[in-house]
Amino acid sequence: MAEGSILVVDDEYGVRSGIRTILEMEGYDVAEAEDGAAALAALDERDFDVALLDYRLPDNDGLSLLGTMKERGCEAMVCMITAYANIDTAIAATRQGVDFFLPKPFSPDDLEGVIETLLRHKKARTEADRLRAEHEASLLALAEEKTQTHSLVSSLRDAVLVVNRDGDVVLANPPMLELLDLGEDEVLMRPARELLGGGALAPLGEQLAAPAKDHTVRQLDLGDQAWMASIVTFRDDDGEARGRILTLSDISEVRRLAMEKQKFIRTMVHELKSPLGSIKGLLEVVTDKSLGEDLDSYLPMIARADHRIDNLVLLIRDLLTLARSEQAPEGEEPELVPVAPILDEVVELARERGAHRGVTVVVELAAGLPPALIRSDDLQLVLSNLVGNAVKYNRDAGTVTVRGAVADGWLRLDVADTGIGIREENLSRLWDEFFREKRAETRELEGNGLGLSIVKRLVERAGGRLEATSVEGQGSVFTVLLPE
Ligand code: ADP
Repeated sequence: MAEGSILVVDDEYGVRSGIRTILEMEGYDVAEAEDGAAALAALDERDFDVALLDYRLPDNDGLSLLGTMKERGCEAMVCMITAYANIDTAIAATRQGVDFFLPKPFSPDDLEGVIETLLRHKKARTEADRLRAEHEASLLALAEEKTQTHSLVSSLRDAVLVVNRDGDVVLANPPMLELLDLGEDEVLMRPARELLGGGALAPLGEQLAAPAKDHTVRQLDLGDQAWMASIVTFRDDDGEARGRILTLSDISEVRRLAMEKQKFIRTMVHELKSPLGSIKGLLEVVTDKSLGEDLDSYLPMIARADHRIDNLVLLIRDLLTLARSEQAPEGEEPELVPVAPILDEVVELARERGAHRGVTVVVELAAGLPPALIRSDDLQLVLSNLVGNAVKYNRDAGTVTVRGAVADGWLRLDVADTGIGIREENLSRLWDEFFREKRAETRELEGNGLGLSIVKRLVERAGGRLEATSVEGQGSVFTVLLPE
């Protein structure tokens, strides 16, 4: 059984039904229309594979019907049938998009042959359309992918340069263009070796051009910035090298941190070594019996050594606290802690310490002060360091005032003193580990310079801020802002 749907448009009933009978006998699905209006109505209802159009129709000639059908996007194959076939009509019809021309009279075999051919063409055309659509879709997907890759590479902070197999640049992202101080037009399809040649990047140009290892990494300095360069070969599915990608990552910050860490370790070693040296010296005086046989004459020395050991223990304790203050202990979330009880404890101790110098400690907490969101041990450390410093760096008979209030959504704690103050140029260095102001007023005061760096880390770990203002010779205010 043949398959296919056919619309026969002819004003002569005999012709229409004759065609129908022949085609239905072959198994085709056939519909009839006696004029243009009926044909369009039938086409509105459903699609046909083939339309057989009479050249002359009562309301409309076949050609203008064909025009309307094409306008409406009809995809049927069209065969013109006419008794008045001449070359002009054939040309006009073909121009309008007629696929075949069947002059009347025709035999059933002619008709069947034409229908078979048209159906075959229709199938081929549908297949071609499908392939074209698929091709267009994949081209579109490819273009989209290319745009995506491009914008992805463009938005990278690292500088990226891609070269093809010949070592010519096919892609350079904005950070790379900035580094080379060149525009995109100036780099595309230019040999990378030439672009990178000359300066500090020259070795990378050589490596990009050479059939080197798959993956090379090196560090290089450009001005005051440090970069990590990596070159990777990219390959197609068959493992064939297609080109190379150069990535430059700015590691200046990483290097700065590493250098800071080294400096910290050097200072730490010094801070640990020098009291040990002095303890050893003091003990040698005893073991050498340098002061004679009287044991009592050694007691002040032993007491000094003992004091140094105490300070060393404090230093080690602070170093441990500093290390721990980087990260909150696992499973210990900040809690809502009432400030007053912790402050009372801290202030009591500070009053004891300041009493012999006549330092007064005053607390002014706003009524209904909400609890602070911080671990209570951390709040204790923060307050004891700040209040302790405010007493330590105060003048005799000075005052320390601790205020607590809510300000701009923060719980604000101010520790103010009437002490020696801090030099303006040192305010930003207060939080550095081991920083201590070297002044005549501080020479006799003991400390290791770790307290404020610990305080800052603990406050920031709780999502808060630490600030300091000061007037040299008049006093300082340390402000802790904590989330409520
Ligand atoms: P330490 O007190 O052990 O030296 P800190 O880290 O607590 O260490 O303080 C660092 C430095 O900041 C101190 O050595 C001191 O010079 C200065 N400082 C801290 N608090 C005050 C204050 N309230 N008044 C004046 N100077 C201060």
